[in-house]
Amino acid sequence: MLENSQEEFVSVEELRRVNKIRRDFVANVSHELKTPATSLQLLAESLVDIIDEDPEQARFFAHQLKSETERLGRLITDLLDLARLESEEKVAAPKPVDVRGVLLAVLSRMRPPAHQKDITLTWKRLGPSEDYTIQGNETNLTSMFSNLVDNAIKYTPPGGRIEVTGEADDLGVTVRVSDTGIGIPQKKLSRIFERFYRVDKARSKETGGTGLGLSIVRHVAENHGGKVTVESKIGEGTTFTVYLPRG
Ligand code: ADP
Repeated sequence: MLENSQEEFVSVEELRRVNKIRRDFVANVSHELKTPATSLQLLAESLVDIIDEDPEQARFFAHQLKSETERLGRLITDLLDLARLESEEKVAAPKPVDVRGVLLAVLSRMRPPAHQKDITLTWKRLGPSEDYTIQGNETNLTSMFSNLVDNAIKYTPPGGRIEVTGEADDLGVTVRVSDTGIGIPQKKLSRIFERFYRVDKARSKETGGTGLGLSIVRHVAENHGGKVTVESKIGEGTTFTVYLPRG
């Protein structure tokens, strides 16, 4: 009898906790969506007011409108990706994926933005194995590595270096994305995988970040039965390590 009532007590607590997480999430999402929605409205109003009198200023507002709209679009895409990943405990219908192929495709897409910031982006295979095949979801893996490399570019000052390495063995594939960027304070490291958590809110907004990238990374790694870890030193750089089992 006592055991049962204790069990019930635990489940009510658990329910409260889950409800609180859900409420916080809805509040966060509403806040994150309200900010760009408000700026879109203000920019559109300003544009309408001056379009005939000051074409130069109007052009400026139009560009601002475009970049705010893009940011809102990224936020919605990231939210939808995250919702989809959270609803799947593990990869649905996994297929053989060549992780090295995925990485090389991501790197070739990221080379122009890296080059624009004068950042060197290199790839290195470590160890003798040439077999990078795992059972997984290619789209999700592409989104995970794109987020990591994109962050490395965003948080590395011009002239820096990003090195991506891969190492495969019988059990799985380990990928490291290392940068010579600004680094993350030690005491913030445990929080960066939380949704909407940013070390420096202003900087993240400036670079167009949504604060959801690393939550997506963690979910993709875990849905594949793997994990992601991070090491960082302020002013020296950051390394994210993703381990993916063969599956
Ligand atoms: P964002 O969209 O803000 O980049 P993320 O979830 O991708 O959101 O990352 C969360 C926070 O972790 C970022 O706001 C940034 O402060 C920090 N961060 C992520 N990657 C790096 C990196 N390579 N170097 C330094 N800081 C990073």
